[in-house]
Amino acid sequence: MLSVEDALQMIVDTVRPSNACEVELSAALGHVLAADVLSTIDSPPFDKSMMDGYAVRTADLNGGATTLHVVAEVTAGMTPQRGVGRNEAIRIMTGAPIPEGADAVVRIEETEFDESAGTVRIESSGVDSGTNIIRRGASMRAGERVLPAGRKLRAQELGALAESGEHRVSVLPIPEISVLATGDELVPIDQQPGPGQIRNSNETMLLAQARAAGCRAKSLGIARDRREELEERIREGLKSDILCLSGGVSAGKFDLVPSALAACGVRQVFHKVQVKPGKPVWFGVLEPEKSADGRPRCIFGLPGNPVSSMVCFELFVRAAVNRLQGIEPATPRTTASKIGTRFHHSGDRPTYFPARLEWTVDGAVATPLDWKGSSDLRSTVDAQALIAFPAGDREYRQGDRIEVVPLGAACGL
Ligand code: AMP
Ligand code: MG
Repeated sequence: MLSVEDALQMIVDTVRPSNACEVELSAALGHVLAADVLSTIDSPPFDKSMMDGYAVRTADLNGGATTLHVVAEVTAGMTPQRGVGRNEAIRIMTGAPIPEGADAVVRIEETEFDESAGTVRIESSGVDSGTNIIRRGASMRAGERVLPAGRKLRAQELGALAESGEHRVSVLPIPEISVLATGDELVPIDQQPGPGQIRNSNETMLLAQARAAGCRAKSLGIARDRREELEERIREGLKSDILCLSGGVSAGKFDLVPSALAACGVRQVFHKVQVKPGKPVWFGVLEPEKSADGRPRCIFGLPGNPVSSMVCFELFVRAAVNRLQGIEPATPRTTASKIGTRFHHSGDRPTYFPARLEWTVDGAVATPLDWKGSSDLRSTVDAQALIAFPAGDREYRQGDRIEVVPLGAACGL
């Protein structure tokens, strides 16, 4: 059976980044940059004052109390009308351009203005050339790379792009994920389950995971375990970049998802991965020539047990999302951590075990939760991470090194 690493590699090899598009910067939050962005300006565009105070020539200061003539005032948004001459000072506000001749700004708190004499007394010890001045181009220079391709745009990236005047940016489109729950036992969450029935909790969870991964999410409701109904919904779902089905991928009599997908023209890339939970996970593609608009589609059949669905989304679907958006590395990054308690792990497959994650002075500490297996979603509400236990039988002592996949930020960002 395929290892997690090999399955992830197959996703990386199969999924290609989407074509870039242009968006207004104001609508670019959460998008990924399609190309490097070079600054067109020096920022700040002029030497500027970082304080309210007096612009002075340090050559005039004697290291103690010095009195200078105040000859002008310059505020933010103005250009200085004159320079600072010998034994002169210009009153300056934060953000204003430094007048010619000045090479330092003395903070207002260290000065005493004499209105009648038009002079200022300055306590000048510790005022060196350059004090309280931010030089032109100190934070970015024209031609310099502000942001690299592949960077996901958060508030601070948007601010930096705005600073350099990029009011439209070339990005990769936000992928759309459709979620289709399958199973005769499922009822919508606002209905009372009858005998043998359960609520369709996976739909809500997977739609939320899709949104948390930065995608648009679309619900396709519940498909019964009937071939025609499944195929009809699958065709609808194949309009999205990614279709996630839940349930129906195991070996049961009504596990119709793989054959229904095949009937809809989807090519299987893999079925079953050596992982716990989530062994029956299925991945395939609709090749470009078979899709309505010539763009390929990714299809995931996630096992119906809620924790299997959740874990497979974090490991595999997120890798496809990252790949579509050109984020490197696309595959989940694990974080070295210490285990917070004694723990015996035994399993024939690598296990992604729900755990509490804390940041201590000793670094990350992950403590396995009292998790009862793939149907026990309840325990995962206290989890911030999955501990990646290798297959085998091992007694862990508190403090032993382990690897974890932080939840919600499994990769990218
Ligand atoms: P399956 O993968 O279809 O064999 O389902 C495995 C288990 O997950 C069964 O116990 C199902 O009842 C349960 N299950 C399947 N789909 C869902 C869903 N949408 N929400 C909650 N549980 C589900
Ligand atoms: Mg089922």
